[in-house]
Amino acid sequence: MAVLPAQVAPPAFALSSLRPHDLTGIEALALPFTVVDGKPVLGAGTAGVDTALGLDLAALLDSRRPTGKGGEVVSVPVGTGTGLRLVLLVGLGAGTATDHRRAGAAVARAAFDHESVATTVPAEGDAQALTAYVVGTMLGSFVFHWRSEGPERRPVRRVVLAGLSADDHAAALERGLALGGAGWRSRMLATVPSNLKSPQWLAEQAEQLAEEQGLACEVWDEVTLAERGFGGVIGVGQGSATPPRLIRLDYTPPGGRKAPRVVLVGKGITFDSGGLSIKPAEGMATMKRDMTGGAVVMAVMGALGTLGCGLRVTGLIPTAENAVGGSSLRPGDVVTHYGGRTSEVLNTDAEGRLVLADAMAYAVDRLDPAVLVDVATLTGAMKVALGQWVGGYFANRDGLAEVLADAAAAAGEPLWRLPLEPDYEDTLSSQVADANNSPGGPGAITAALFLQHFAGEVPWAHLDIASAGDAPAESFEWTKGPTGFGSRALLTWLTGSDPLAGIAD
Ligand code: MN
Ligand code: MN
Repeated sequence: MAVLPAQVAPPAFALSSLRPHDLTGIEALALPFTVVDGKPVLGAGTAGVDTALGLDLAALLDSRRPTGKGGEVVSVPVGTGTGLRLVLLVGLGAGTATDHRRAGAAVARAAFDHESVATTVPAEGDAQALTAYVVGTMLGSFVFHWRSEGPERRPVRRVVLAGLSADDHAAALERGLALGGAGWRSRMLATVPSNLKSPQWLAEQAEQLAEEQGLACEVWDEVTLAERGFGGVIGVGQGSATPPRLIRLDYTPPGGRKAPRVVLVGKGITFDSGGLSIKPAEGMATMKRDMTGGAVVMAVMGALGTLGCGLRVTGLIPTAENAVGGSSLRPGDVVTHYGGRTSEVLNTDAEGRLVLADAMAYAVDRLDPAVLVDVATLTGAMKVALGQWVGGYFANRDGLAEVLADAAAAAGEPLWRLPLEPDYEDTLSSQVADANNSPGGPGAITAALFLQHFAGEVPWAHLDIASAGDAPAESFEWTKGPTGFGSRALLTWLTGSDPLAGIAD
C-alpha cells in the first residue's frame, strides 16, 4: 500500500479581474513597488487602495526606506471592518521573471497561517512573470510535517490574482501550477523519511502518479533485475531489508508514437548510509534525500502532459537502499553492469554511479534515446565547488549544454557546467575490473567520467545536484531542507519550443 504521510496542500489560486480592494473576505493584500532613482514607487493595482483603506501607503513605504529588490517585503498591519488585516508592499526589482518568482515566495512566507491573500504583484508583468510568480508562491509555501499536532505553519489557503482576467491569463496560471507542482512533488518525495520511503514505496508513488497522469509505468523487482543483468542496482541494494527496484515511466505525446525519445535517469537511493564504507553521523543525517534525482524524474514525468511536450520521454529510476548488513557489498567486490562492463567497488559510499550505470546502459541499448540525461545527488565535491544554491552539470555536446543552462536559468534552478576532462580518465583504472568506483579528486569530474562510459555515443548530460539538494536556510522559493532541485529546469527545457535544437552538433 502506498501510504502518504500527513500532507499539507499548496495554496489554491484564482484569477479575478476585480481591483484588489473591491474583493471581499480577503485577509491580506500584496501590492508591488519598485524603487526609481532612490525613490519608492507604488505599482500595479495600488490606485484607490489608499482611499479605500484610509492609509497613505506611499508615505508609509517611503518611511521604511526600502531597496526595492525582488522579494523585499514591507509589512503594514491594518484593522478594517472588512476583515483585511495585513497589507504587504512587495519589491519587484527590475520586474524580471526571477524578481516575480522571489516576490511570490516572499508573499507566501508573509502570508503563512492566513486564509487568503489578494495580490496585484504580477498584474503588469507578462505571461512569464505571472507563471514565475505562481511558482514562487507555491514553493515558498512548501510545508511537510509529521507532527502529532499539525504543522508549525500552514500555507495561505487561497491566493487571488487580482486585476487579471481568466480569459487572458488562465494558460500562464496553469503553467505556473504545473511547474510549481512539480517542484512541490520532488521536494515532498525527497523530504519523506526513509522509514517510510523504501524502493517499493517509491515505486508505488510512481504507479499512482502514472495512473493520475496517464503515463505507462513498469516496475522490475530484484528477481527481474538480477535476471536482466543489473548488477550495479542489485549490488547496492543487496544489504538492505527492502530490496531494489527499477521504475520506468513513459510519456507519449498525443499522436507522437514515433517522436524522438528523451530518456531521463534519476538516482533513487532511498537512504545512503554509505554501506560498509559507512558515513560519519553528520554526513548521514540528510541522506533520506539521496533519491532526489529519482524524485525529479517522477515530478517531470507527471507534469509533461499538462505543460505540453512533443517528445516521447522515458523516465528510469534505479532505486535501492545503500544499507549496512551481512550481505552488503564489500570494498573490493566487483559488480557487472547491464551490458557487461565491470566496476571494482573500492568505496561502497560511491553507490550512486553504480545504479545509474545500469540504467544508462539499458537506455542506450534498448530505448534509442535522442538525448540521455541523468540527474543525481552524486558527489560531495560538487557542494565544495559550487555551494548549495547552484547545481553542476556535464555534457558531451555543446548544444545540449547550452539549452540546459538556458532552461535552468529561466526556471530559477541555475546550473554550472564542468568539464569532462579526459586527462583525469586514468584515475578510473582498476587492477581487476574495467573501472574503479572511487577514483578520487576532482570528485565531481571523475564521477562524470565514470558515467560517461555508459552513455555510448548518445548526446548525454549529467546533472550532479548534490550541491543544491539541500537548502541550508530559507531563501526565496527554497525552504530549508531537501529541495527537489532540478524538476523545473528539466521541464522548462523539455516543454520549450524546440528542446532538441542544436543538440546533434
Ligand atoms: Mn554514497
Ligand atoms: Mn549517495
